[in-house]
Amino acid sequence: MNFVSDVSGTPLARTHHAFTSIVKRNFELQHEDSGRSTRHIELTLPEGIHYQEGDHLGVLPQNPSELTERVLSRFNLNGQDYVNLTGDSGSAAHLPTGKPVKLEELLSNHVEFQEPATRSQIRALVTHTVCPPHVKELEDLLLDNTYKQEILNKRITILDLLEKYLACEIPFERFLALLPPLKARYYSISSSPLHNEGEASITVSVVRGEALSGNGEYKGIASNYLAERSQGDKIACFINTPQSNFQLPKQTGKPIIMIGPGTGIAPFRGFIQSRRALKEKGETLGTAHLYFGCRNPEHDFLYQEELVQAEQEGLVTLHTAYSRCPGQEKHMSRTD
Ligand SMILES: Cc1cc2nc3c(=O)[nH]c(=O)nc-3n(C[C@H](O)[C@H](O)[C@H](O)COP(=O)(O)OP(=O)(O)OC[C@H]3O[C@@H](n4cnc5c(N)ncnc54)[C@H](O)[C@@H]3O)c2cc1C
Repeated sequence: MNFVSDVSGTPLARTHHAFTSIVKRNFELQHEDSGRSTRHIELTLPEGIHYQEGDHLGVLPQNPSELTERVLSRFNLNGQDYVNLTGDSGSAAHLPTGKPVKLEELLSNHVEFQEPATRSQIRALVTHTVCPPHVKELEDLLLDNTYKQEILNKRITILDLLEKYLACEIPFERFLALLPPLKARYYSISSSPLHNEGEASITVSVVRGEALSGNGEYKGIASNYLAERSQGDKIACFINTPQSNFQLPKQTGKPIIMIGPGTGIAPFRGFIQSRRALKEKGETLGTAHLYFGCRNPEHDFLYQEELVQAEQEGLVTLHTAYSRCPGQEKHMSRTD
């Protein structure tokens, strides 16, 4: 099986039995006036990988270079240098220990940098800070209300604090050990294997906006990583079948109601593709109602053309609700 270079050997990839898929298409679903971004990403799966409608795609993202550069710069390190980490399989289980690893690779693929600083991280910074006024300021952050208001609500990270408190001399390896492991992110698969076996698509709302910290722009790790992939790029991922039995009923004649605002439409697009394939095979389909909501149909009615087409083919009855149509009350309608 193929793997994305650099990610293949990570403990995260091994835990999830990750494989490599190739980006076939990646395009914007929102109208340019919407001010937001939702990407439709089609992936070619390697041979032998199967999924069913309603499954999730787990994605192993990589931290962007803006973020890893901040760490390298704060610790005055060179991303091209190699380090050899030692540690046990407990606290360091998510880190590549016992072999030389390039710093850039280590920072891109193994740890989260954007989680709010924990109390134990702040305590560690206190221990390694020599300047008494800064020690006091850091200690104050541990007080219940201050911690909530200044750290949790603003999502201030340990990296933000290190950049503010330059007198803190925490060693790099200690900093690294304090960071949580990089997490896989899940996306509902928005296609049906009956439509195109060997391919899967996802529908990704890109997390981007003014940072709650007041410090520039906040960019979600996985959604931006995915949004920036181009045709031919490799993505490390895995298929996850939810335990909730979120699937089309086995008896095709059973009626179904689907409710999916925004990117919640994703699995239902797969369901509708499946219904089309089943209908073409001569199966009798029960009725299907889809309730979809968005802000304004001119901006963010995802897959509008496809859904209207599916309704014309008798595959689904659409019900829509719009929350931000200028001059109109919030309303819901049936499109017929
Ligand atoms: C089962 C499942 C299915 C899912 N399906 C889909 C799907 O089909 N499509 C989809 O788009 N998503 C889906 N998600 C969500 C998806 O997994 C990710 O959580 C989402 O894409 C954000 O990940 P990220 O790495 O981009 O952001 P992260 O790096 O994880 O950042 C998100 C965090 O940043 C915080 N944050 C947001 N804005 C700001 C800001 N301005 N300043 C500071 N902090 C901020 C948020 O509160 C959140 O805690 C699904 C999740 C699950 C569990």
